[in-house]
Amino acid sequence: MTDLSSQQPVVELTDVCKTYAGGVEALRDVTLRIDDGELLAIVGPSGSGKSTLLQVLGCLDRATSGTVVLAGHDVSKLGDRRLSAIRGSMIGFVFQQFHLVETMSALDNVALPLLYQGVSRSTRRRRATECLERVSLAHRAAH
Ligand code: ADP
Ligand code: MG
Repeated sequence: MTDLSSQQPVVELTDVCKTYAGGVEALRDVTLRIDDGELLAIVGPSGSGKSTLLQVLGCLDRATSGTVVLAGHDVSKLGDRRLSAIRGSMIGFVFQQFHLVETMSALDNVALPLLYQGVSRSTRRRRATECLERVSLAHRAAH
């Protein structure tokens, strides 16, 4: 049986440009296709646009022009709610900085992404507790 989902690229960028306010052209006409199962490293000197590209790929920022299609969804045409849903279900980031919400406990910080997947509060807390236990941080849950 043919699996249609495996034939569609996971990521497809076409002529993507990103110009920041102030006029810095961080991305110019980037065209890139990433298929299911591919491992890709984006390398280049500081200031060459790596972080900008990741932010556009990860729906954290929008391209100035061009199209970004993630698993068949043209993200430039999606509103904030749909974009949050895609971020919550399809994209995982390991950031260089922690980006923890200081006013929230460790447990609530870990549970937060599940909110955007529509997971119930009790399930969020249970799964977050399990995650903290897996990395030996359960004793810090209320911190
Ligand atoms: P890299 O991750 O490869 O070091 P960046 O994507 O961070 O590159 O930056 C690419 C270019 O865009 C740089 O010239 C940088 O100064 C500029 N830039 C990055 N973020 C912003 C921003 N928020 N506002 C204005 N210019 C930015
Ligand atoms: Mg960077």
